[in-house]
Amino acid sequence: MTTCPYFEHCEFVLRYVARVKPHWDDFINHYCQGELREFCKRLEWFQRYGTKPPAELMPTGQTVPESIERQR
Ligand code: SF4
Repeated sequence: MTTCPYFEHCEFVLRYVARVKPHWDDFINHYCQGELREFCKRLEWFQRYGTKPPAELMPTGQTVPESIERQR
């Protein structure tokens, strides 16, 4: 499976997946490099609007929980 073309610039991956590592690595396995990519709400945003989605928009369409937001 190829990697999503937005992977290097995807702020959700860069900011949050790295922060809670390894707990959210499955987002990369299943969305960025897997069969769920076609359902990724971030990818849909990139393609529909041609702009970056908010960093806190998760591939599922949910928003990053406050508890993760507070982790530094
Ligand atoms: S979260 Fe979605 S848009 Fe971002 S790199 Fe992964 S599949 Fe692509």
